[in-house]
Amino acid sequence: MDQTTNDPPDQMFTCQLCGLSSPFTYYGQKPPKTRAIVLLEDCYVTKDPFSPDKEKFLVLGSTCSLCSTCVCVSPECSLYYTKRFCMQCVNKHLEQFPLQIQTELAKKKQSTKTAVS
Ligand SMILES: [Zn+2]
Ligand SMILES: [Zn+2]
Repeated sequence: MDQTTNDPPDQMFTCQLCGLSSPFTYYGQKPPKTRAIVLLEDCYVTKDPFSPDKEKFLVLGSTCSLCSTCVCVSPECSLYYTKRFCMQCVNKHLEQFPLQIQTELAKKKQSTKTAVS
């Protein structure tokens, strides 16, 4: 590894549940160079590599409001309900979430079970 670049190394976001990792360009609620976009939470954000629109960005993940674990926005890893929760905390405090969310999660669990070969 003797490659030299003048760019500062990308900061990496890593989901601590599924291991997904990706460089991110911004962490916070208001990504730079975007017009009037304010996110609901502090997020790890990266520019959308598939879009020529410079204002387009992707939200990679966020931190759990309870245990501060870094989690991606995949429904398998985290849930956004007024705040970001990692699935570990969701499962731990499931009875404190509204029934609607509990049912949705139960449905999801069933569908992943049948999807597994
Ligand atoms: Zn994940
Ligand atoms: Zn958590």
